[in-house]
Amino acid sequence: SVAKEKILQRRSLQLRQQQQDWKESSEGKKMLEFRRSLPAFKEKDAFLKVVSENQVIVISGETGCGKTTQLPQYILESEIEAGRGALCNIICTQPRRISAISVSERVAAEHGEKLGESVGYKVRLEGMRGRDTRLLFCTTGVLLRRLLVDRSLKGVTHVIVDEIHERGMNEDFLLIVLKDLLPRRPDLRLILMSATLNAELFSSYFDGAPTMHIPGFTFPVRAQFLEDILERTGYRLTPYNQIDDYGQEKSWKMQKQAQSFKKRKSQIASAVEDALEVADYKGYSLRTKESMSCWNPDSIGFNLIEHVLCHIVKNERPGAVLVFMTGWDDIHSLKDHLHAHPLLGDQSRVLLLACHGSMSSTEQKLIFENPEGGVRKIVLATNMAETSITINDVVFVVDCGKAKETSYDALNNTPCLLPSWISKAAARQRKGRAGRVQSGECYHLYPKCVYDAFDDYQLPELLRTPLQSLCLQIKSLQLGSISEFLSSALQPPEPLSVQNAVDYLKIIGALDENENLTVLGRKLSMLPVEPKLGKMLILGAIFNCLDPILTVVAGLSVRDPFVVPADKKDLAESAKGHFAAGAYSDHLALVRAYDGWKDAEAQQAGYEYCWRNFLSSQTLRAIDSLRKQFFNLLKDIGLVSNNSETNNKWSNEEHLLRAVICAGLFPGISSVVNKEKSIALKTMEDGPVLLYASSVNGSVPKIPYPWLVFNEKIKVNTVFLRDSTAISDSMLLLFGGNISKGGLDGHLKMLGGYLEFFMKPELAKTYSTLKRELEELIQK
Ligand code: ADP
Ligand code: MG
Repeated sequence: SVAKEKILQRRSLQLRQQQQDWKESSEGKKMLEFRRSLPAFKEKDAFLKVVSENQVIVISGETGCGKTTQLPQYILESEIEAGRGALCNIICTQPRRISAISVSERVAAEHGEKLGESVGYKVRLEGMRGRDTRLLFCTTGVLLRRLLVDRSLKGVTHVIVDEIHERGMNEDFLLIVLKDLLPRRPDLRLILMSATLNAELFSSYFDGAPTMHIPGFTFPVRAQFLEDILERTGYRLTPYNQIDDYGQEKSWKMQKQAQSFKKRKSQIASAVEDALEVADYKGYSLRTKESMSCWNPDSIGFNLIEHVLCHIVKNERPGAVLVFMTGWDDIHSLKDHLHAHPLLGDQSRVLLLACHGSMSSTEQKLIFENPEGGVRKIVLATNMAETSITINDVVFVVDCGKAKETSYDALNNTPCLLPSWISKAAARQRKGRAGRVQSGECYHLYPKCVYDAFDDYQLPELLRTPLQSLCLQIKSLQLGSISEFLSSALQPPEPLSVQNAVDYLKIIGALDENENLTVLGRKLSMLPVEPKLGKMLILGAIFNCLDPILTVVAGLSVRDPFVVPADKKDLAESAKGHFAAGAYSDHLALVRAYDGWKDAEAQQAGYEYCWRNFLSSQTLRAIDSLRKQFFNLLKDIGLVSNNSETNNKWSNEEHLLRAVICAGLFPGISSVVNKEKSIALKTMEDGPVLLYASSVNGSVPKIPYPWLVFNEKIKVNTVFLRDSTAISDSMLLLFGGNISKGGLDGHLKMLGGYLEFFMKPELAKTYSTLKRELEELIQK
């Protein structure tokens, strides 16, 4: 170890020399000049002092002031200068993959090195780091998984948790674990970084840790709300007569919108009513289709956005435009919509770019660049452009006022991912993005009174999502009792949510009666997907029907590739129905559609295939790449081989696929009773339920199976099942729930409750026969 120490010392000296050389080179000087112009630079010495004197510190500062790129670097540089370069080990977490990658690229460049030397990154399934990496940017999930195998973070000197104001579930979780670790690692430094000013909350969570604020430089931004925009641009919205019976509209879609509108933000609904009155008073009608859709959390008025963008391109001074949308799919539909526009689609005048978590690195570069020749850059972004990514030349921001947010209703135990109104903090943050280089303008596409009704801050994710994956992680990290652990969170979740998650994990066999991890649970905790999807993957591997199950799981994680254009609804539905012929399964329809697409792709006919069959090739491609990732995950934990033939020995057996799908989706199960003219469905928690029109089982006259399993249900007035697969009694009996624990008898006991509820006690007999046969088989 003396020899090792010598090597480290020598290496440290080398690093110091390298840094000096870089700082004296002409490029290095230029870079240094830029870095010195950032507001963080003024605080450098003060920052390093606080870090050396305290175990925990909380930093807040305006977005773009240099927190993410500079502060971790200051620590690295000061260690290098002190001749300890090879001894420090700094980890900086980011909530998103894309920011971990792009930040590490930037920092390596500022540091005058190639990525993967002193500065590296690691995200799920991908990374760039070497033996000499001293500053590692990684996703929060990666650090959590490291804690699984290395509970005291041996050798790590600094942990920096970035963007804590977002209050993501992983970040809140990580903070509980680190808080627990700190007393055991007195030499470890923890630095929390946040964009907004709720630093006090975090400081008091860490026993009054010191806080530090970095003042930013931003130029004033003028905010305009919908009423100002309409007045200034003279835009007239087209009348929409149905608004008055809004809420009594018959179609489920409208009902769903009205419900979420009323229930989730009743104060906003009444603010909208006020807005309507103000508007009437001012003499322009806001009771229109576009404005309603732009106020409705579930949709966004494309025409209004188009109008505002045209106004900017035609009348405003030069400067990039940043448009905040809710998600990937919105961004792409809007992009298509704008491409068709004579002015906005004219590439000699407008450069349209998309910025979201799964963009390519070429797209990423373009976002930071200045287009030439007076071309106007318009970036369509998700809320990741709120804080994680800074585009310097933005002068105009268009804010739709919404973001996609998972919400979870513990009473119905139903999760949903829907666009909903953002918080005041987020709206302010979006606005601030326009003032980086000069004064800017922000167009909020909603009335001021709607803004006034926004929440101050967004609810932490821990309080609005199901906790199943999190509970599994708590168990696999051996953090003790789940409910006790979670009660020490910054803002603990409701006990009912915790109970639901634990019950669920017991039902699917991931935890035993005493809340201990089962073998299945341990495997599931190694797969970074929802437990139900993980279970399907594991069984797909075990039963050698891997390929179709990979498709099903990837499809459920991305989104439905079947598209239903409003004007060709019937044709689209019959195209999907065609794939499902005889299958009574949305999931098997997807498998068949995907397989057909792969064949067509091989003959360069993928595009026509998608066009003919109402499929989105973009989504199919996303599914394709996710399938590969899932395959690698399974290989990592040793469940599949490279031999595709073995892995797929039973892939053509559709009943086996049904059974595996059932194993994953249970207890998402509904009974089927075929009536004369309709099909009656019922679940244990909800009673009678209905199927979405987009489900292939929604349009069949009869389902020749006694049960459906489903992945997703959404509560409107009645509950709707979004997708489903028909299964038989024996599939339910053998694959529903958990056979491994408590043997077959324990399984029967658990299922007994379900069978009794659905008044099918006779199935218990079938079950004993099955069980006897199975036992005989095992004996043989
Ligand atoms: P913060 O974390 O405080 O929001 P950052 O450290 O991310 O700020 O960014 C500081 C500054 O560095 C930004 O204002 C931007 O000008 C610049 N910057 C960051 N990333 C890049 C990049 N990839 N290319 C060019 N400039 C960048
Ligand atoms: Mg940052």
